[in-house]
Amino acid sequence: MHRGDQPVKTDAPGPIASSPPPPEARPSPARWWRAVAWIGLYLALVAAPLLMLLAGPLPKGGGRAWDFAMALGFGGLAVMGLQFVLTARFRRATAPFGIDIIYYFHRYAALVGIGLVVAHYAILRVGFADAVGPANPLAAPWHMTAGRVSLGLFVVLIVSSLGRKLLRIEYDGWRIGHAVMAVVAMVLAIVHIMGVGHYTAAAWRGTVWTAYSALWLMVAGYIRGWRPWVLRRHPYRVTSVRPERGRSWTVTLEPEGHPVLRFRPGQFAWVTLGTSPFRAREHPFSFSGSAADSRRLQFTIKELGDFTRTIKEVTPGTIAYVDGPHGVFSTDHFPSSPGFVFVAGGVGIAPVMSMLRTLADRGDRRPLLLIHGCRSWDDCLFREEVQELQSRLTLSVFQVLQEPPPGWSGGVGVLSEEVIGPRLAPLTASQVFFLCGPKPMADAVQQTLRRRGVPLGRIQTELFDMA
Ligand SMILES: Cc1cc2nc3c(=O)[nH]c(=O)nc-3n(C[C@H](O)[C@H](O)[C@H](O)COP(=O)(O)OP(=O)(O)OC[C@H]3O[C@@H](n4cnc5c(N)ncnc54)[C@H](O)[C@@H]3O)c2cc1C
Repeated sequence: MHRGDQPVKTDAPGPIASSPPPPEARPSPARWWRAVAWIGLYLALVAAPLLMLLAGPLPKGGGRAWDFAMALGFGGLAVMGLQFVLTARFRRATAPFGIDIIYYFHRYAALVGIGLVVAHYAILRVGFADAVGPANPLAAPWHMTAGRVSLGLFVVLIVSSLGRKLLRIEYDGWRIGHAVMAVVAMVLAIVHIMGVGHYTAAAWRGTVWTAYSALWLMVAGYIRGWRPWVLRRHPYRVTSVRPERGRSWTVTLEPEGHPVLRFRPGQFAWVTLGTSPFRAREHPFSFSGSAADSRRLQFTIKELGDFTRTIKEVTPGTIAYVDGPHGVFSTDHFPSSPGFVFVAGGVGIAPVMSMLRTLADRGDRRPLLLIHGCRSWDDCLFREEVQELQSRLTLSVFQVLQEPPPGWSGGVGVLSEEVIGPRLAPLTASQVFFLCGPKPMADAVQQTLRRRGVPLGRIQTELFDMA
């Protein structure tokens, strides 16, 4: 008996809404303009402290090197402060890019920020040792110690983030430590600037600087306070946990006293199960159900680590919170594409199922190709439903197994160029490709497509890893 045959509480079929993609689902040049506008705003906010320094007479300084060091310090701090904004998941701001890109940017911006702050400190240490004062916190002015501790915390933050997997730091613990250290480091940096007072002494500068600093801390407050509070007012209940093939489970949620969250097929949400949203125990999962289902949300989750291994123990009635929708991995962005190709590895089929189910519910008859890589035939998640969907969609399916059963006529091995190249070749001229699975798989398929001349704009990738 395969896992899908186990007795479970089944879902009653829900009403299918006609086919309204959410209103903002338009793949227009406007998206590019919005992206440019957000980048412009980001750069303006990074430059704001420097512009503030240049506006009005500069306080008497120690020459060019001194002013340069100060500019580096203010610039670095602005970059670090804006890290709160980048990870605040403001949907309007992340929509033109995709939140995974924002998280990657967050990572590289941290390196730029710390580089600027370290350079600020190094120039002063070498050229203006008297102004920096003694390193001993008992002898140093308190605001200098605050600056040093802040710098040390920023370094620890970055090392522990970039080396998290290497250092075997557990994700949830890392995340809490990351948030606490970031806020403390930021507060200490502001204390340092205010304490030095050199560039903030003028009343107007002090006021503007205080307001600017407050912005960062308000964003931190929004992330940890306001957003969980809003989520708590929009609870969901688990109505079923259904075993699937490949050590995966489909969790169905229904809203309690409010309309169900609308999403585009392929998007994802941060899901909290069985605990308060204030505890920041949320995990990102793609919606796997149809976006046309106006009653419930579905997520298909593979057992992988500490949290996902507990999914099978979740019981109907468990409280849940859903922060979303997020992401731009969606067929809805390409209404004029002549068809779509989906390449999924393992549970990477979850967002693809959402797109297939939605396209079927909308009566879409454009040609579709699904290439699904699985370990074995028994592990091949959703294979029965995919077969059924072929009667409702113009869908071709090519399954690739690493461990094929005797007499297997599909693909064998991993999703390499040799295995899937011939299937993709006739489609590279016009189709939009959606890739979801482990990074090596997504990289290999992307390279195959690029070699065959598919522009990046027609290759959409979702990786199930952000950190
Ligand atoms: C956009 C996106 C969509 C995803 N969709 C699905 C899906 O539909 N189905 C599915 O099975 N998996 C999905 N994942 C992966 C899923 O989020 C992780 O497998 C899960 O969070 C692992 O948690 P764990 O505690 O069980 O494993 P752990 O062993 O603790 O973590 C394994 C790795 O997962 C990542 N991870 C862990 N916790 C989090 C977290 N809270 N936030 C972000 N990353 C985390 C870390 O890189 C970690 O190293 C998705 C991930 C992303 C980024």
